[in-house]
Amino acid sequence: MSTLVEGAVLSGIGVGRSAAVAPLALVRPAPRAPEHEPVGPDAADAVHAAFTHVAEGLAARAAAASGNLKEVLGATALMAKDRALIADAVKRVEAGTGPATAVTEAVAGYAAMFEAAGGYLAERVTDLNSVRDRVVARLLGAPEPGLSLTERSIVAAEDLSPADTAALDLDLVAGIVTELGGPTGHTAIIAGQLGIPCLVRVAGILDVAPGTPVAIDAAAGTATVDPGQEVRDAVEAIAAREAALASDTAPGATKDGHALPLLANIGSAADVPRALAAHAEGVGLFRTEVLFLDEATAPAVEDQARAYRAAIEALDGRKLVVRTLDAGADKPLAFATQPDEENPALGVRGFRLARTLPELVESQLLALGQVSTHSTWVMAPMIATPAEARDFASRARAAGATTVGVMVEVPAAALRADAILREVDFVSLGTNDLAQYTMATDRLRGELADLLDPWQPAVLDLVAATAAAGRRLGKPVGVCGESASDPVMALVLAGLGITSLSMSPGALASVRFALRHHTLAQCEAIAQAALAAGSPSDARVAALTHMDPEARATLGL
Ligand code: PEP
Ligand code: MG
Repeated sequence: MSTLVEGAVLSGIGVGRSAAVAPLALVRPAPRAPEHEPVGPDAADAVHAAFTHVAEGLAARAAAASGNLKEVLGATALMAKDRALIADAVKRVEAGTGPATAVTEAVAGYAAMFEAAGGYLAERVTDLNSVRDRVVARLLGAPEPGLSLTERSIVAAEDLSPADTAALDLDLVAGIVTELGGPTGHTAIIAGQLGIPCLVRVAGILDVAPGTPVAIDAAAGTATVDPGQEVRDAVEAIAAREAALASDTAPGATKDGHALPLLANIGSAADVPRALAAHAEGVGLFRTEVLFLDEATAPAVEDQARAYRAAIEALDGRKLVVRTLDAGADKPLAFATQPDEENPALGVRGFRLARTLPELVESQLLALGQVSTHSTWVMAPMIATPAEARDFASRARAAGATTVGVMVEVPAAALRADAILREVDFVSLGTNDLAQYTMATDRLRGELADLLDPWQPAVLDLVAATAAAGRRLGKPVGVCGESASDPVMALVLAGLGITSLSMSPGALASVRFALRHHTLAQCEAIAQAALAAGSPSDARVAALTHMDPEARATLGL
């Protein structure tokens, strides 16, 4: 538990586990289009010129950036070049709307479309709005929205786009707090990449006067305004602890040397440097659908091969588990998603695509076959039956794959894990979907988070059953769902016989630390205590109670 209790405490969703205290700096708000904006004769040209200016500026920043930031800035620059968006704004100007108003309205139309699509697309609305803010500022002759820092600060904003972030001197950013945004949005991704403590969805942060000291604790999800000495000390202790955790870079193993490789989840080759910087031993989940979220048509085999080769090369011989396209539900792909499904999470998603678009599955396996090395493993998502596992394995092997597996994320697959494992070389538990399907709870519904909890006894039982099947058959059973990033759950998973853990890179240090401070026998006792509990909270408390007290204290648990 955090000790940040003094001062006014605002809450939000924390990204990572670190903490910081510094004066608050507010990002300059974007200018808004004035009411009754006049339309000059050159208004349409001005709109074109403003979009071009913004696109060029963003592209230049993308060229100077690296990693994820480069990719997101590049994607934002592309939005500023989008012909349909510009044409929409120009059409409005030609119909008599003022230029800044026309741009605002055109972007609002696109944002509504993205939001209706949900998932990743909805999270791109931040980028779209940042294009709008820059174009509108240009049209109004106002300074570009943003912030220039002169001292180490906690940066607060309504939302922070990649373009805003690129304009900041990151050495002076002690932490980031936003009123909007989501835990998987760009602000969170970039903060995670840079190891900066970050809170999103903090109502009221913009009402705090600039210059006021603010303490943020990402693990607790709190921002304390004008903190007392006790809170400052607690924050500094957390920051020191995080630095100490990050300095342990040994491979994943229990205290008595039982190896449990710690791997990273990635969405493209650009994520690999961050994973390696956090000392991941390889990649346990490459979500290939992320590469193609913006594509209107199925990517060509050569384009796919290039993207997979980039990840393989970046990993330089380390293990890479590539997941075939998991299109549908929360990850819609324009060229693969069924348009008229009433329950997309229960529809044609993941490997079920082989029923409607077999050529897509084949072309992906073909591309992978062209570039795979001995350390490339391939697995299919959303497998429900041994027959599906057999079908995928025979397609993948025919395309040249040497190590073939499937994800266990449907309860049917967990219940029949022995039969599934007989068809493949390994399985990987996707606990995000396994919780969704076991508890019949849409994973996008925040208000049902208590049901989606991976500590739910029924979910733990299915994980245990799958791990037991792996032990019986002597085949690897990994976990690549979010639950692997909880250091307490990681001990439970190790105790159940899980053979590797894959997570977001920011979680690696604390999971590594937890494992290295418990023997396998201790992990087994922790797992048994969790399995014996009757509710998610009892299960976690039971696991915590069996942990080494010193390790628990260092982890701030
Ligand atoms: C999961 O379901 O746990 C998983 C890892 O896959 P995704 O989150 O991409 O559906
Ligand atoms: Mg899944």
